Amino acid sequence: MAKSVSRSSLKSESLLGILDDVQIAIDSKILKVKVFTSICKPLNGAIPGSNQAHFLKLWTFPYKYKYGKEYKESSATAYFIKGLRGALRHQVMYHCKERGLEVCHTSDKETDRKGKSLLPNGFHLIGSCTESNECIVHAVFGSKRHTSKIRVSANPIANISQKTFQSKYKLQNVHIATEKRVALSYDGGAIQDFGERYFAGEFEFEIDVSKCSLAELGLLIESAMYMQKLGRGYNAGYAQLEVQSLTLVDRIMTRKPILGDNQEFKIEEQISETPLSQEFLNSIAEWTKYVKKSQESPK
Ligand SMILES: [Zn+2]
Repeated sequence: MAKSVSRSSLKSESLLGILDDVQIAIDSKILKVKVFTSICKPLNGAIPGSNQAHFLKLWTFPYKYKYGKEYKESSATAYFIKGLRGALRHQVMYHCKERGLEVCHTSDKETDRKGKSLLPNGFHLIGSCTESNECIVHAVFGSKRHTSKIRVSANPIANISQKTFQSKYKLQNVHIATEKRVALSYDGGAIQDFGERYFAGEFEFEIDVSKCSLAELGLLIESAMYMQKLGRGYNAGYAQLEVQSLTLVDRIMTRKPILGDNQEFKIEEQISETPLSQEFLNSIAEWTKYVKKSQESPK
């Protein structure tokens, strides 16, 4: 027998007074990087000896689009762009080397098993600077036992041809192309085949720089400005990146429960952003000062 549900007379308005007092605002500083790529083939996996994949299939989601006066439903697949943080780090290392600063390399071994050097000139082993004089790369990116100050993220990408699409998920619409390839065939049949994915279009990623000093932020701004590659070389991934704009913002996020019809609380998120253009410039100035000081008295 179905139980009768007693309807509460609780109304949203009665909550508002309480919520104003307890509402928490989460404040963060975000560097947004807008990038265009005419061709990008982040590593797809399926490469012998590699466990890396920079282009990861996430999930298939429904969306709506306008068809005449009506709405139709369809679905698309979302992908995750991996490798953005690594690409940024690579650029940061390059910039520091160009400026004559000795910083952490990504390697924690001097040589490989065959005795081949893994540590190029002008770098020290990752994390080896923590006891004496921490370098700026370590201060920002950390190492195994030291947490990073920054967080790099991007909304997933998807290929949706309908311009009027609506989805409740945050994603970026780009063009995704799949090239089907047969790696090995026998007697006319494919034994091993795989698809390589490429994408093209505009996308955005962001770096949470809330914990960074001005000089560290300046280093990140300068490096992000010069990012050109995603993936490592032609075989392992290929991409041309054109950085279009950088924006530094102060982001304030608040959430509140809104009482729905069936007494469930829907969480409503509000985000407000204020541009920090002056701080953007100050950061570059601080980074330039930091470089000059380090060049005058090298460690
Ligand atoms: Zn270091």
